[in-house]
Amino acid sequence: MGGVPTKHHTRSKTGRRRSHHALKLANLAVCPECKHPVVSHRACPNCGHYKGKKIK
Ligand SMILES: [Zn+2]
Repeated sequence: MGGVPTKHHTRSKTGRRRSHHALKLANLAVCPECKHPVVSHRACPNCGHYKGKKIK
């Protein structure tokens, strides 16, 4: 207790922890309007369409 680290992690332990930090590009869909790859449930960054409507 006290919140003071008693011992430094080795580089390998730090690396092992950080091995979980990477984010994957998952669930990319394709915009039906312009065929640009889009993240699901987001408006298309290229043409702004979402579910057949133009958002802004
Ligand atoms: Zn689009």
